[in-house]
This record gives sequence, structure tokens and C-alpha cells, in this order.
Amino acid sequence: MREDLRQLLDLQGVDLRIERIKQAQEDLPQEMKRLDEGMAEEREKFGQFVERADELERERREKERDLMSEMAKVKALEGRLFEIKTNKEYQAMLREIGLRKQKNSGLEDEILRMLDEIDALRKEQQERDQELKAFLARSMERRQGIEQELGVMGRELEEQLARRAEVARGIEGDLLRRYERIRARRAGAALAAANQGTCLGCHMHLPPQFYNELLKQAELHTCPNCHRILYVKEVSEASAEEP
Ligand SMILES: [Zn+2]
Repeated sequence: MREDLRQLLDLQGVDLRIERIKQAQEDLPQEMKRLDEGMAEEREKFGQFVERADELERERREKERDLMSEMAKVKALEGRLFEIKTNKEYQAMLREIGLRKQKNSGLEDEILRMLDEIDALRKEQQERDQELKAFLARSMERRQGIEQELGVMGRELEEQLARRAEVARGIEGDLLRRYERIRARRAGAALAAANQGTCLGCHMHLPPQFYNELLKQAELHTCPNCHRILYVKEVSEASAEEP
């Protein structure tokens, strides 16, 4: 292969690596942000669940206080039964005591139902707590992984940028500018391989005469269709990649 093509290919390899690193440097913080949001959301959901159980617990205690005071009232009424002089008043008082006891018994049932419900909620809370902890641990682990990756990438980017400057220094100015122009238009890849009469950059079939000239490697050729600089892919490489 021509030396200038080899250098350009080398440069393209470095440029593509640099691009991948920069892309990852954009993507990874996004992923980190999603992890943080996910963790905050799950914590919030758990908090709301606990709040619901706590609220029910408060209601239950309130109802228990009500029941205590209602039972005390019944007791007081029962105490006053002995002071009553007439049968009519006595019967009326008995009726009232009966009604109050009935109401209290309803309240008791309600409190028992609440106890069952609270019990179930607390059990679920424990399960959710375990799930949340496992989820947070997984998320934190991934987060630390990302931080490490970013650190490694930062160092690798510096290395690749230094390497790029070194490779670019060996390339003639006009050719380098040509490479840059094509690269800017062709999404990062200014060079394309040609194999068996076809440009692998755009998959256009190259004219036979043009392809013959290309094989001679007397000068640099660009694809008539996508305008990438063409290099001939050696047979061993091509057969390894394209069975
Ligand atoms: Zn092409």
C-alpha cells in the first residue's frame, strides 16, 4: 500500500477511536443521570408506601382512643343507672347504653380490620425494602463502573489526541486538509476500502477502467459516488471479513 494511504488509514483509525470515546463521554453521564433518577424515583415510591402504612397506623391509634373514651362513657352511664328513679328513664338509659355498646363493637371490628391491613402492609414494606436495597446496590455499582470508565476514557482520549497529532505531522498538508474536508462531509470516515470492483463506503460498483487504475496505486483516487479516498483491500483481509 502507498505510504500516504497507510498514514491516512492510521489517522482514520485514531479519529474513529477518538469519536467513539467522545460519544461515550456524552452517553455515560446520561446513563448516570438516568441511574440517579431511577434511584430517586424508587426511594420516593418506597417512602410513599411507608407513608401510607404510617397513616393507617395513626388512624388506628386515633380510633383506639375514640373507643377508649366511648367505653368510658358507657361505663359512666352504667354507673348512673342506680341513680335513676323512674322505670321509663331507666329503660331509656338501658337503650342508650345498648346502642352505644353496639357502636363500640362496630368500632372494635374496624380496628381489627385495620390491624390486619397494617400487618399486611408492614410485611410488604419489608419485601419492598429488600428490593429497594438490592436495586440501589445494583445502581450504585453501575454508577461506580461508569465513573471508572469515564476516568479511563479521559486518559485514553489524551493519549489518542497526542497520537493523532503525531500521525498528522507525517501527512502532507494538502492531503491532510483534503482528508479533513471529506471527513466532515462523510460522518467521520474519509477513506473507504474498494474490493472486487466495489466501493465499500457507498457500495457503488466502480467502473472497470477506474478500478484498474486504482489497483495500480499510481495516484490517490476518490470514489466517483461518495468521494471518499479509496484504498484497495488486500485479498486476505477481504476474504477474512467477507466470506
Ligand atoms: Zn463510494
